Parts: sequence; structure tokens; C-alpha cells
Amino acid sequence: MIWVDTIAELRKIVSGWRREGLTIGLVPTMGYFHEGHLSLMRHAKAENDRVVVSLFVNPTQFGPNEDLDRYPRDHARDRSLAEGVGVDLIFAPLPGEMYPEGFQTWVEVTGLTQGLCGKSRPGHFRGVTTVVTKLMMLVGPDRAYFGEKDAQQLRVVRRMVRDLNIPVEVRPVPLVREADGLAMSSRNVYLSPEERQAALILSKALFAMRDRVQAGETDVHSLREGMESMIKAEPLVQLEYLEFVDDETLEIVERVERPVLVALAAKVGRTRLIDNLVVGRL
Ligand code: AMP
Repeated sequence: MIWVDTIAELRKIVSGWRREGLTIGLVPTMGYFHEGHLSLMRHAKAENDRVVVSLFVNPTQFGPNEDLDRYPRDHARDRSLAEGVGVDLIFAPLPGEMYPEGFQTWVEVTGLTQGLCGKSRPGHFRGVTTVVTKLMMLVGPDRAYFGEKDAQQLRVVRRMVRDLNIPVEVRPVPLVREADGLAMSSRNVYLSPEERQAALILSKALFAMRDRVQAGETDVHSLREGMESMIKAEPLVQLEYLEFVDDETLEIVERVERPVLVALAAKVGRTRLIDNLVVGRL
């Protein structure tokens, strides 16, 4: 596995692969790998001749009071995990390589970024779409892999690729959970044992809601109340948002009559977690 930290080296290697006619899969990440990341890499490996993983804690997608400085990092561990699943190249630039002095160009998706995490994290998606566009321009991948864990991000990136005619196929990968239901996240390391236990209420509430939908309940008001009362009973967890939105447009819905994304964000202690489920899929 090759490890590069400059754009020049990255370009040299991927253009060589391209000349040989090899297909390339891109997996953008912020590192501190867990099974969710490895699942994206395995999907990329299965569908492409070469896999490029970017490992970059992108400063422009963090707000001023967020966890940029304490975001977990462990390059040695990430290197061996990626190597273990057959990744061909890791691109791990320093911030100055991606955002040189005088940087002033942004890529922004408007409508889809207004609700959910876009509301509570202003500027977040502008940072995401800008860095993902740069990575796509640098690597020129045939396919790029995004997890359903970040459901809104996936939909925003898909729209950006469509709207800007970026020649890449966006491939969604299912959300990977711990055995007890907790959505895997690099941020789970922040949780104390008590918080880790309390955080389980988020997936439990989603699963209970799914059971009710499968039993025929369609009224969002009632489904939401059920989830809120479960989550409110857990004092260590503060719900930031809980929304039932159309799976494609992300517009608020009142009934589950077509695929509905049920997405939430919550603070567990100081740690912000997100989780989601899609219900009403045929
Ligand atoms: P991150 O490093 O958290 O920015 O995530 C990098 C990529 O991995 C994104 O496309 C995420 O959606 C995806 N990812 C993170 N956690 C999970 C998970 N538990 N299951 C599936 N994909 C995930």
C-alpha cells in the first residue's frame, strides 16, 4: 500500500493507473477507522481495480465550537487496517495542501442542505462538498463510496455529482452497527461507559419505530412521539433533532407512504451522535 501526502504524488500515481486502463474507487474519510469505514473499502475493492482512501480531517466542515482539535487520529492503526482490506493508496494531506494560502472557492448544494444537520451545523455541508469535489478532481475515480450512516451527506453528494456532471458513480454503503445496535462512529471513543450505554436508546427508538411502521402505523406524529418519549427517558441524552423526511427530497412528511428517512442527532454528554433508518421502502 502506498501512502502519499502531496497532490503531486497522488496525481502521478493515479494517472499511471488510468493510462493502464485500471478502474479506481475512491473512499473519502476522516480516519480513525472502524468497521463502517472498512465496509466502504471492501465494497470499493470488490468493484474496482484500485482503491484510493483519503484520510483528511477536513477543517472547513467543522464549526468554530466543534471538535476539530480533539477529533481522534491514529495514522499507524489506520494504515494497517486499510492495508488489511487491500487498499492500494492512502492520501493523507496536511490542511495546507488542500487549502493553500488565499483559498476562496466553494462548492455549495442549496436546498438539500437546509434541514437536518445543515440547520444545526451551518457551513458544514459546504465544507464537505468542497473537499469531496477536490478529491474527485484529484483522483478521477470511476466510483466513490459513501456510508448511509451520513444519510444527508450521501444525498447531498449525489445531487452535487448530478448537478455538476461529475463523471463518477456515487455508491451508497449500508450503515454498520455494533452488535448492540449503536451506529459505528469515530466519535464513539469520546463516550464514557455510562454514556455508551445511554446512547443505545437512539438505535432502540429507531428500531421500535420501524416495528410500528412494519405493523401498519403510518402517522408520523404518533411515531415521533413514541421515539421522543423513549429518548427523553434517558437523562444523559439530549435530542438535537428528530425528523421524518422524504428519502430523496429531504422534505418533511406527515405519513409514511413512501420511503421515509428518519434521521436524528443527539448530544450524549458532550458528544454529538447521529443515526438514521429508512422506512416504507417497498
Ligand atoms: P468519516 O470518517 O466519519 O467522515 O466517514 C467516512 C465515510 O464512512 C462516510 O461516507 C461515512 O458515511 C462512512 N461511515 C462512517 N461510519 C459508518 C458506519 N457506521 N456505517 C457505514 N458507513 C459509515
